[in-house]
Amino acid sequence: MIEPMLTGAEARSRNILIVVSLSGLFGCALLIGFMMLVERHSADRAEADRRTYYMAAHDMLTGLGNRSQLQQAVDAVFSPDHIGPRPALILIDLDKFKPINDTFGHAVGDRILTLVAGRMRALCAREDLVARLGGDEFAVLVADGQSVERIETLANRLCHVLSEPFDVDGHKLGIGASAGVAFAGGDAGNTTDLMVAADLALYAAKAAGRGCAHLYRPELMAAALKRRRLEADLREALKKGELELYYQPIVRADTGDVTRMEALMRWRHAELGFISPADFIPLAEETGQIVALGAWAIQTACADIASLGGDVSVAVNLSPVQIRHESLIGTIRAALAESALAPHRFEVEITEGVLLENDRQTLEVLHTIRSLGVGIALDDFGTGYSCLSYLQHYPITCIKVDRSFVSTLGQEKGARPIISTVVALAHNLGMFTVAEGVETDAQLRELTELGCDEVQGFYLGKPKPLAELRPTLKVSQSA
Ligand code: C2E
Ligand code: MG
Ligand code: MG
Repeated sequence: MIEPMLTGAEARSRNILIVVSLSGLFGCALLIGFMMLVERHSADRAEADRRTYYMAAHDMLTGLGNRSQLQQAVDAVFSPDHIGPRPALILIDLDKFKPINDTFGHAVGDRILTLVAGRMRALCAREDLVARLGGDEFAVLVADGQSVERIETLANRLCHVLSEPFDVDGHKLGIGASAGVAFAGGDAGNTTDLMVAADLALYAAKAAGRGCAHLYRPELMAAALKRRRLEADLREALKKGELELYYQPIVRADTGDVTRMEALMRWRHAELGFISPADFIPLAEETGQIVALGAWAIQTACADIASLGGDVSVAVNLSPVQIRHESLIGTIRAALAESALAPHRFEVEITEGVLLENDRQTLEVLHTIRSLGVGIALDDFGTGYSCLSYLQHYPITCIKVDRSFVSTLGQEKGARPIISTVVALAHNLGMFTVAEGVETDAQLRELTELGCDEVQGFYLGKPKPLAELRPTLKVSQSA
């Protein structure tokens, strides 16, 4: 009786053992599978994290560091835990990149940016951080910024290698670069100040003609603060009545009669006193304020000259910014209509800089101005490119021979033939000539001899407020 019972129990316990072993095996397999899944997931996550970190810290096009990585690296330099030498920051701006990008397209532009990155990386040490800050702006945080000479040489070499032509799709494309350098050791005490210092140095490099590197100097900060103050004050100058127009007579060389007057802007700053147009006009051009100031000059000049009666004309200087602004024609029309000044008594003076871009818009604007009956004088002729095709394509009525030729009359052999050639050229094209900057009787006589139609300069009259000129004009007109 016991025997079969024992055999049954044995079979049952064997079955139980098998089931338990199988369950254990299955559990183990599940556990291993689960662990493998977890491991794979965390590897994927680590890879995704690495990629996110890379994308957050790098420029995707060039593979260089980006602005945020540079910012963090500079922040670390100024932290109390920083050990080792203080770095130097080189900011680099490509010159002439935009026209290439616009002309050849973004694919070529991107290719150039990648090649720029390669050339920069090749010149810098492994421990230096090379970054693209956006557009055509790059930076190098040179890890060891102790030797001023070494850093300056590196910055200049960077400018040099970036000015070598780039070979892209069979085109040899030339750009260039300007660089500004600031030292974390001496020029700044925090990230913002270091960036601003390098930026000011870059601005100075561009102002010095581009293609070179400039080091930060404290005077640059002082000049920038002065500029910012002037910029703010210039916004208020018109409202406060600090701007005036002075007029300088332009007279016929043969008779001495005043035919026209050039309107020249003057700024009497309440605290700083007289500020030269050579200082504030470029500032007004950069900030776009020249559009409002120029409109005021056009309106005031038309009203002033209309109030004179007689037939003296007025010439107003126009800057390139005004010519590109859509309001110019409307401003001239309104000024003529409001003052009732005959259009032939109004003239604008432009410089060759306006014509350099040689675009349709400038041509159209100048033709429209001319179609109103207004004259167009080419100012400071001979100082720019003096491209003769300007005279052919643009509706110019008068050439103003630059002061630099007049002042060298009698001293340099070249001045006389140049002036006589310009006069002959202008006459053959049906234009008249004005010689600027006449300061002596000898110059006046020589210019008359050379056939210059009109003359302007301190010898014939300095720029003055209209009220001071009125009596002399009456005399010359009645004479
Ligand atoms: P610009 O149009 O060539 O004006 C002639 C400049 O030469 C004036 O300087 C005038 O005072 C100066 N000048 C005239 N005769 C003589 C001379 O015999 N000897 C010397 N050494 N200088 C002489 P200013 O008034 O300082 O103006 C400088 C420049 O500022 C002007 O050169 C013009 O480009 C610009 N500017 C002046 N007013 C305006 C304006 O209302 N609008 C614009 N856009 N520019 C203006
Ligand atoms: Mg002028
Ligand atoms: Mg001039």
